[in-house]
Amino acid sequence: MKISPTQIYKLLPKLNCKECGYPTCMAFAVKMLKKQAFLNDCSPLKKPEYIQNAIKLKELAGEILSAAETKLVINEERCTGCGNCVISCPPNVSVSLDASGGKGPKGDEVVMKIKDGKVVVCNLKMCRRFEDDVDTRPCNVCVESCPEDAIEFL
Ligand code: SF4
Ligand code: SF4
Ligand code: SF4
Repeated sequence: MKISPTQIYKLLPKLNCKECGYPTCMAFAVKMLKKQAFLNDCSPLKKPEYIQNAIKLKELAGEILSAAETKLVINEERCTGCGNCVISCPPNVSVSLDASGGKGPKGDEVVMKIKDGKVVVCNLKMCRRFEDDVDTRPCNVCVESCPEDAIEFL
């Protein structure tokens, strides 16, 4: 299905408040389609009155970004390779001290590691969001540890 900027715009708060860094909601919609703007950037969308629209927008974002099975999306343009997410991810820390050092282990048996200055996903099956007994509050450690707002779960 081809997604249009208007389709995204209709679901945005349409406040033209510029909080996302773009002059209008339509400008944000166009950037989102180009994978240059992300839903996290629209603060008004987090208000309860927009929750239904936010859910629909996340579905559209998933199609745009082709998120992997866990719906983990890394915005490579924002990632500085600081390693915070790597060293704070609980499965990573439990398997490798190298991973906990933020440098990345030798093998790929970690959720993610730093490679060439960017975080790369190695084994998503190890992410806690894959566990059968995920409680009502799924792990969000990597998102919260990223100073660049580069990780998002759709
Ligand atoms: S922050 Fe949201 S509501 Fe405000 S201009 Fe950007 S897209 Fe529109
Ligand atoms: S959600 Fe948790 S387990 Fe999954 S990658 Fe992020 S920190 Fe690691
Ligand atoms: S915490 Fe954010 S900026 Fe740092 S490596 Fe992870 S994704 Fe990149």
